[in-house]
Amino acid sequence: MKKVSLVVPCYNEADVLDLLYKEVTAVFDALPQYELELLLVDDGSRDNTLEIMKRLAEKDSKVKFISFSRNFGKEAAMLAGLKYASGEYIGIIDADLQHSPDLLPPMIEAIENEGYDVAAARRTDRAGEAKLKSALSEFFYKIYNKFSDVHLEESAQDFRVMKRKVVEAIISLSEKNRFSKGIFTWVGFKTKWFEHENRQRAAGETKWSVRKLLKYAIDGLLSFTNAPLRLPLYLGSVSVAVSILTFIGIIIAKIVNTSGSYGTVLIITAIMFFAGIILQCLGIMGMYLARIYDESRDRPIFIVSETNIEKA
Ligand code: UDP
Ligand code: MG
Repeated sequence: MKKVSLVVPCYNEADVLDLLYKEVTAVFDALPQYELELLLVDDGSRDNTLEIMKRLAEKDSKVKFISFSRNFGKEAAMLAGLKYASGEYIGIIDADLQHSPDLLPPMIEAIENEGYDVAAARRTDRAGEAKLKSALSEFFYKIYNKFSDVHLEESAQDFRVMKRKVVEAIISLSEKNRFSKGIFTWVGFKTKWFEHENRQRAAGETKWSVRKLLKYAIDGLLSFTNAPLRLPLYLGSVSVAVSILTFIGIIIAKIVNTSGSYGTVLIITAIMFFAGIILQCLGIMGMYLARIYDESRDRPIFIVSETNIEKA
């Protein structure tokens, strides 16, 4: 019997946990060929989320829980869950039931029988979400995809089921500033997308403050693009090029009209030239810094999906 681990990051989700437990177990009751491991990660909740987890775990041995010493954020909670999960298939689902557990059977089916490594959900709408948040996030993905090394599906969610090898690849990225959406894309693997309507939050409220979202967006950009570090090189090059052209212009003007005075323009041109050189130097240093950053993140150079070579 295959084991399916479901990782649920929970931060102050006391109001929905019982409901989540009920819906998820109902889904798996209809899938007797799979063994469920419901891995609840308490991300330092301040309500009685942990007590409910303990109660559920006592009642049902399929329920496992991990409780953080304080709030470390959803990324940390997901990583902890992925590290502790013991199933052959491992899923991630939000606690608030915005990710419908009804989608789990077709997702598992896609991995089991259709040759996919990942089954991931993509939302078709943004119901139950503030307008401003939707607009901001749309803007973020536009900018993101322009500059970043990985292409993010705008509507992709963290809701997904993966084979163990995919999870191992995800964990093998040891970076501390984790941006899972980017990491999921970065590791690759054959993915089947499921369109999925966002449901209203079953109870409780969203945990994302503007500050948290902003940090998330910046983490996301810095994790998958070094473009900002190269920016001064481009700016500096433009500045130098313009100053050289202006300088040539001044010389020509001086030849044509020997009585003209171009002192002020000359000084501005000189300032532009040297400022440009300094910017270029910064850009070159940025490129080295980008390399140091890449090396220090120590991402794997490749990820193997399949092989027939036994590794010792
Ligand atoms: N979450 C978490 N730690 C946090 C914030 C959120 O574990 O610091 C969990 C939360 O309990 C929920 C999931 O991440 O299960 C998604 O959070 P939420 O529903 O608040 O986000 P939204 O759906 O509004 O984007
Ligand atoms: Mg939610």
